[in-house]
Formats: sequence, C-alpha cells, structure tokens
Amino acid sequence: VVSKKQVIDWLDASATVFEQQQEFLTNLDREIGDADHGLNMNRGFKKVKEKLPTLEDKDIGTILKNTGMVLLSSIGGASGPLYGTFFLKAAECVMAKEELTVTDLYNLYREGTERIIARGMAHPGDKTMVDTLSAIVSSLQTQQEAPLTSALNSTLVAAEAAMKSTIPMRAAKGRASYLGERSIGHQDPGATSSYLLFKTLCEVVG
Ligand code: ADP
Ligand code: MG
Ligand code: MG
Repeated sequence: VVSKKQVIDWLDASATVFEQQQEFLTNLDREIGDADHGLNMNRGFKKVKEKLPTLEDKDIGTILKNTGMVLLSSIGGASGPLYGTFFLKAAECVMAKEELTVTDLYNLYREGTERIIARGMAHPGDKTMVDTLSAIVSSLQTQQEAPLTSALNSTLVAAEAAMKSTIPMRAAKGRASYLGERSIGHQDPGATSSYLLFKTLCEVVG
C-alpha cells in the first residue's frame, strides 16, 4: 500500500521536481503555448509544499482536497483549474483513508481524470494532459491484482509512452490548438507534467 506519509512525500517531492523541471516545461510551452507551464506548476506546488506541515495529521482525502484547493487558487491558466479539479475529485474517492491500494489509486486517477475531461472537454488524442492521465487510468485498471511496485512500474511505462505519443499529434484543445498543423512535432507540456507527477509517485513509493 501507499502510506499517508508517502502521499505527503509525493507532494513534497513534486514541488522539488517542478522546481527542477520549470525551465524544461516552460520551454515545451514556449514551442506551442505561452511559455508559462513550468512557472505555473512550480508556483502551484510550492504553495502546496508550504501547506503540507498543517496537513500531516489529516487523512489522505483531506490532504488531497487541500492540495486541490491550493492549486486552484495559485496556478493560473488552463492547467490550474484542471489540476485543482483533479485533486479535489480524487480526494472524494479516498476520504478518511490512511493508506491506498492499487485499486484506490485507480479510483482516484479515474475520477480525477473524468472530471478534467468534463471540465476541459479534451479526449485522448487531443494532445493534452488527458493523453497521459487516460493511459495511467487504463493501466492501473488492469494492474489492480498486481503488487504495488510492479503496478506502478508498468503504469509508468504506459504514461511515458502516452506523453511521447503527443509529439506527432495535432492539438485540438487549449492554446496549442490555435497553432493547428504547427502544433505537430512538439511534446505537450501538460502531458509532460502529468507524467512527472506520476513518476514522482513511483519514486517515492518504489
Ligand atoms: P495556459 O495554456 O493557460 O498557459 P498552462 O501552460 O499552464 O496553461 O497549461 C497548458 C497545458 O494545459 C497544455 O499543455 C495541456 O496539456 C493542458 N490543457 C489545455 N487545455 C486543456 C483542456 N481543455 N483539457 C485538458 N488539458 C488542457
Ligand atoms: Mg501556458
Ligand atoms: Mg498561460
């Protein structure tokens, strides 16, 4: 299982990852957007990290709910409301829990992703974070009987492939869609941040 402490560590480590990857994500967004995705993610998770000390004795649902609220209020742009909503909805699936099974992870990623789709109207193939998130959901669904580490590892492989699959796509949602054909050949920033978030979970747990 994933312990509550590991959930805290995941969010804390994500703040470090988004600080380190700020340039990289912003450069991806410079190609097909407005060069702020790294800035947005770094700002948002920095705020989440600041809030973590007040959440250590709360259950996992409450921790994720607070994460969502902080992200909603601190990341601007398209990704703030989407990631905020993801965590708020994910939190509802794991209220009062002190640890998470693979099935819990599947449920929270599924619900969070469904809410992003409901809000942003993007579907797999539209070159957004939904590409990575949907691949994570599909993989976790098939891995529910597997041991945690192997479920996470095989899902990480699927998430990386999904992130890379956005390169040849033509963007159909968000700012990148204004570029039409010219969005082809670039990796989507949001698909990349969703991959980094999941990779960080794998590293903290594994
Ligand atoms: P903005 O585009 O407002 O500057 P960001 O740069 O922070 O916001 O985030 C851009 C990312 O948001 C894109 O790379 C894409 O993955 C994601 N995105 C944009 N619009 C949508 C949408 N409608 N549904 C899902 N994801 C989206
Ligand atoms: Mg942007
Ligand atoms: Mg912007």
